[in-house]
Amino acid sequence: MHPVLEQVDWEREAEDAVELLRALLRFNTSNPPGDEAECVAYLADWLAEAGLDPEVLAPAPGRANLVVRLQGLVDEPPLLLNGHVDVVAAEAGRWRHPPFAGEVHDGAVWGRGAVDMKHMVAMSAAVCRLLARLGVPLRRDLVLAAVADEEAGCAMGSAWLVDHHPDKVRAGFALGEVGGFTLHVGGCPVYPVQVAEKGVCWVRARARGATGHGSLPRDDNAVVRLAELLARAGRTRLPLHPSPEVRRFVTELAAAQPRPARDVLPLLLRPRWSGLVLDRLVRDRSAARALNAVLRNTVTPTVLRAGGKTNVIPGEAEAELDGRVAVGSSEAELLAELGRLAGPDVDLEVLRSFPPTVAPPHSELYATIAHVVAEHHPGAVAVRSVTPGFTDAKFWSRLGTACYGFTPVRFEPGDGAFADFFHGDDERVPVAGFAAGLRMLADTVARFCCEMRAGG
Ligand SMILES: [Zn+2]
Repeated sequence: MHPVLEQVDWEREAEDAVELLRALLRFNTSNPPGDEAECVAYLADWLAEAGLDPEVLAPAPGRANLVVRLQGLVDEPPLLLNGHVDVVAAEAGRWRHPPFAGEVHDGAVWGRGAVDMKHMVAMSAAVCRLLARLGVPLRRDLVLAAVADEEAGCAMGSAWLVDHHPDKVRAGFALGEVGGFTLHVGGCPVYPVQVAEKGVCWVRARARGATGHGSLPRDDNAVVRLAELLARAGRTRLPLHPSPEVRRFVTELAAAQPRPARDVLPLLLRPRWSGLVLDRLVRDRSAARALNAVLRNTVTPTVLRAGGKTNVIPGEAEAELDGRVAVGSSEAELLAELGRLAGPDVDLEVLRSFPPTVAPPHSELYATIAHVVAEHHPGAVAVRSVTPGFTDAKFWSRLGTACYGFTPVRFEPGDGAFADFFHGDDERVPVAGFAAGLRMLADTVARFCCEMRAGG
């Protein structure tokens, strides 16, 4: 632990942070519509009471972002702590405890947002308050950005801040999604830390054909042409893109496994073996899906539109495909791969596109994270991971920020799998794991932002 943190009463700090988290969970910030303003106002009051000077930035009525800054004495690139305060919807009837009550049961805080990701908002606020109270000089600015609208694409949140208030959120480094949750994979405990995330390339596919009467089948039916593409897109694995980031992820993950997994996992990077490993040798199917997704471009058919009358062949049929661009690949490459499945009778149109995001694999911040993981959880290791999804890092990185996924929570094997809690029913965070995560985050921030000798 950094010397400035050695005298801290961690039990009290954790209790306060848990209370803040529970309060944040009581605001229903399901997005859409988001409605983050009241939740953000609560957080602003909490920070102001601690003597900090938070700023609320509202892009629209009912929507709000919060930025608060601790000024550093030396001009090193700032560190941004990032959490989104919106959450995905929760179907209360399917939960064992209500999703917007912030209740504690069985040693966990329950609620939508407990790990995605009001826990990070609460921990980051607690860390800012703690450092401010300790009065330790910082060698770089520490900025907390609690943002709206991540779950619906960030237009009212990080994207808006980057466009409208870049000077308030510009940073050299950021800690945010996705990572820092303990993964128990058979060997030693692993803390994935996102260093890269896939890009986005949403595509509309439109097939054309001759119109006609449903009683007279014909070969140039637009619905059939489109269906053929969708079936191929849904069943075909596009080519491997084993970028350096993906290679590193698979290699580091493999190194943390016992035999034979340690020898088998690297075969994922070899075109001849990859499919066999995914289909037969990775027993955890959700892990296999995640690994498959980071290895290649993917196109998932999601929306369909065609026809309106049973006995009329429509001249056009269209579908939307959720395309994701592999780290190291590009929109053009994804379109070329999809185009080969589509054939000449289907047009492809890009609806929305963002390139993959990549942070430097070697940096003082990553080294600090790896050190903190090893020190706070003896026997565990950090692994530089690649995320198939989309986070606020997409937008912070436009300002040149190196974004790492680290919102630490220590999960024990009996706590359930954090991956099931993301957007899942019964989302919760173990109280002890949250307290351990708070110490890990505080130590990471202190090591990266405070002088080692201060207070020591
Ligand atoms: Zn999230």
